[in-house]
Amino acid sequence: MTGDAGHAHAGAVGRLTALLGPDSVLTDPDELDLHAWDALGQSRIHPGRPIVPVHPLCVCTPASTTEVQAVVDVANEARVPLVPYGGGSGLMGAAVSLTSGIVVDLRRMNAVLEIDTAAFTARVQAGMVLEALDSELQQSGVMLGHDPWTLPVATVGGAVSTNGLGYRGGKYGSVGSQVLGVEAVLPEGPVCRTRGVAKRSTGIDLNHLFIGGEGCFGILTEVTLRVFPVPEARSLHAVRFDSFARGFEAVLAFSAAGLRPILLDYGDETEDPEGSSILYLGFEGKAEVVAAEEGVALAACRDRGGVRLAPDKAQGFWRERHAAARRFAANRGERRKRNDTGVHQDWVHVALPASQVLAFRREALAVAAARNVRFRESGLWTGPELFSLRLSREGGEQARAELGDAVSALLRTVHRFGGSVEYCHGVGVKLAPLMSHEHGDNLELMRSVKRCLDPNGIMNPGKLGL
Ligand SMILES: Cc1cc2nc3c(=O)[nH]c(=O)nc-3n(C[C@H](O)[C@H](O)[C@H](O)COP(=O)(O)OP(=O)(O)OC[C@H]3O[C@@H](n4cnc5c(N)ncnc54)[C@H](O)[C@@H]3O)c2cc1C
Repeated sequence: MTGDAGHAHAGAVGRLTALLGPDSVLTDPDELDLHAWDALGQSRIHPGRPIVPVHPLCVCTPASTTEVQAVVDVANEARVPLVPYGGGSGLMGAAVSLTSGIVVDLRRMNAVLEIDTAAFTARVQAGMVLEALDSELQQSGVMLGHDPWTLPVATVGGAVSTNGLGYRGGKYGSVGSQVLGVEAVLPEGPVCRTRGVAKRSTGIDLNHLFIGGEGCFGILTEVTLRVFPVPEARSLHAVRFDSFARGFEAVLAFSAAGLRPILLDYGDETEDPEGSSILYLGFEGKAEVVAAEEGVALAACRDRGGVRLAPDKAQGFWRERHAAARRFAANRGERRKRNDTGVHQDWVHVALPASQVLAFRREALAVAAARNVRFRESGLWTGPELFSLRLSREGGEQARAELGDAVSALLRTVHRFGGSVEYCHGVGVKLAPLMSHEHGDNLELMRSVKRCLDPNGIMNPGKLGL
């Protein structure tokens, strides 16, 4: 950093303190450390492509859209990067500070502004944690349609900015598909507001600058979401199949019949990829509709050899579905520690045409075998097109590099199967090197939009492959 730049940066912290007040501009090293990183695990980073976080200059906690604008103005004047920050639960390093700048922690902007129970919409501030939002909605007789593992931690802004997917996604879609309108502060300071209506045919949809935008095109301050009636009935089931393929056929059959489960989590029961698999399945809604749906789905399972397990298996699964996020929240400080267990793991979450899922799974098994990597588990989430797998490798840095190479090699085959390299966690820094493979010439188009909106290049630089 030149002396001039260092002076400008120190001046930026002073300006922010004067504008927002000292309580809203944090420079305590523990806060800087906590906000320099998100939930991207060390074991998922290729040692040959290290990601080196730096402490931000400060963490701002604005309480209003006007205060967010003030932060953006200061960042433009001082030419320092801005990193929007929600719950910090992103798995791809999208909220990691790569150059020292200003982290904008939105969590003080956590109010529900309006709930319209007749229109089934809610207008909320972007820093609201999803679980708190859902509990306010439930008091009004409606509920949130987005139910990720990280419901107790993730914020509305973070979920929309990664276009996340939750358990209920099979019925209600990704969180992005539930966004009706937004308010966002653009990279040069003006505010973009879109109308929160059910459907528009008035030109391109500017909401999509921010859905999956990872904070690269502006800072979301408000979101109008579609919300849903609290269901009258819920049914949950667990069914075992003697092979992954048999259960996959059952999922295909009831999906083709138009069923939209609120729970569809299917995967290998043990680490034997040729062994049995378990399907967790659930429906919600009017009691008679739920009864009809579960009847059709269970018949499809039975016809393909599925054996129903005791009801408490599925009940327990549903009850515990947010437990991993609560553990993450309780151990946030641990997440950047070195992995001393010697077992490196990585996850792949790809979208594929349903017709290609079994072929891609065979490819993954072949890649794992050829590269001496363990194929730990595989599965479907929310529908037959969304396929995940976990790979691992034991050993030192070399082993971690080999695991990273195997994952990259596998992800590069996804396009040959007509798929996309990630279906819900975003790109961040982890998948940025794959973006030209994913988007081809369209990546340059995205970069042009980015340059046009953010000529100073201050909005979350280094993310999304932009
Ligand atoms: C154990 C575990 C389980 C998970 N399960 C799921 C799951 O089931 N489904 C799922 O979709 N994801 C899951 N994730 C990933 C993560 O929880 C989601 O990506 C989540 O939506 C991120 O929200 P956040 O508030 O924590 O965002 P952050 O991690 O803080 O930020 C994510 C991105 O959004 C940007 N951002 C944040 N707020 C704003 C804003 N107001 N305006 C503009 N940009 C903003 C950040 O700059 C960053 O680019 C899981 C993570 C963990 C650790």
